[in-house]
Amino acid sequence: MSDFLVRLGENKAASAVVRGLGVPLPKALRRNTAPWTQALLQGKDVVFCAGTGAAAAAAVTRTLENAGAASHPVFPSDAPVDLRPHGLIFDATGLQDPDGLDEIYAFFHAHIRNLASGGRAIVLVRPPDTAADPVQRAARRAVEGLVRSMGRELGRKGATAQTVHVAEGAEDRLEAVLRFLLSASSAYVSGQVLHVATTVSSPAELIYDQPLAGKVALVTGSARGIGEATARALAREGATVIIMDRPAELAAAEAVAKSIGGSALGLDITNADAAAKIREHAEATHGGLDIVVHNAGVTRDKTLANMDEDRWNMVLDINLKALIRVNEALIDALRDGGRIVCLSSIGGIAGNVGQTNYAATKAGVIGYIEGLAPRLVDRGITVNAIAPGFIETQMTAKMPLATREVARRLCNLSQGGLPEDIAEAIVFLATPGASGLNGEVLRVCGGNFIGA
Ligand code: NAD
Repeated sequence: MSDFLVRLGENKAASAVVRGLGVPLPKALRRNTAPWTQALLQGKDVVFCAGTGAAAAAAVTRTLENAGAASHPVFPSDAPVDLRPHGLIFDATGLQDPDGLDEIYAFFHAHIRNLASGGRAIVLVRPPDTAADPVQRAARRAVEGLVRSMGRELGRKGATAQTVHVAEGAEDRLEAVLRFLLSASSAYVSGQVLHVATTVSSPAELIYDQPLAGKVALVTGSARGIGEATARALAREGATVIIMDRPAELAAAEAVAKSIGGSALGLDITNADAAAKIREHAEATHGGLDIVVHNAGVTRDKTLANMDEDRWNMVLDINLKALIRVNEALIDALRDGGRIVCLSSIGGIAGNVGQTNYAATKAGVIGYIEGLAPRLVDRGITVNAIAPGFIETQMTAKMPLATREVARRLCNLSQGGLPEDIAEAIVFLATPGASGLNGEVLRVCGGNFIGA
């Protein structure tokens, strides 16, 4: 579904009139459509500042160089450079106490005005929960508030801001994360905190052209919507994809599969033999399985007092119970270095009127990935969740007009996301380079105003 205000903003004459009336228009986001490349950031200027005692400077510099960006190193008190940079990065991994926050303030205060439209601001800091004392922890946590607020301020120019927690020794896992955050693939990710750790082993060599070549991926519920976009994006990066959806959607699933060189499977995820059939299909048709995306999901909204058992049971069965049952049965079939990504929702984080059933399942998914992630580290498998905000699909097209309009505007970027935004984040988590992220809930919500 297209967003009238975003389209209006793209028309120069019309947008000048509307802005003249004092109505803010959302900025059309520059999204990724092309395959990833080694030189992903070619021609992009990034201003980089290493704070006192910073430990990730070498990793940042190497990433920018590998990705083809022009790096402009500065000191915290330097005057702004004479350009409109695409990225501003501050390495605060040496942060000791609240006095150290002054350097972050000085850097962004000097440079943020110049950040290009659609630009990226990123702060790297050690995780607060590993701080030596409460004072250091306060300083590290303060970064989150500063950056989230920066994200709110940057939204009007379609720019974003994120915090990255870098565990001791995890600097070499930063490259894939920085590439994603600086690229057009993260256009609808704003105000988030990502945690990069060393618990899952990292491949010796990372390839950024066709990073999923040779991988077999299953996407449940992929005949349309977010699932279809995900299947297409995984295939674009080299994966062979199994398009699985309800038998009634088999023709649509086959059409998607045909267009991306994958295979189709008509199966209801709640069937008792669903996992066995998926496993059999993956092994017989593709010789194994590397990536599982649990995307199939439904809503059946009613306030709790009006919710009949059918609505409750259906949503619980599809979104949570079947997901867990299928996943548990597929873990053994997954090759080492595998990736599991589950679809949660900001509804599962913040709750929604009429969604006690849906929110229970989406919060349950978070509990499941958090519990499962540590269990598979020995096999190099990561388990993560994506929590989409308001995404323009058939699911949200069913919302009442006024609710839909409010849901669209209530985020830093003042617009809904597209299925492709979720697909790009899933691709990122599915790549070998994302080994630093495990047990994470990545919100792709444009910096939605609700939820944590
Ligand atoms: P959608 O309704 O467009 O697509 C869902 C797909 O899942 C459909 O193809 C459907 O046939 C399939 N499916 C449903 N029940 C199934 C079953 N029993 N077995 C097999 N397949 C089944 O929905 P969407 O908006 O693309 O959502 C995809 C996922 O993202 C869902 O898990 C949803 O909860 C989540 N999500 C969506 C939004 C949003 O704003 N659209 C927000 C948060 C989370």
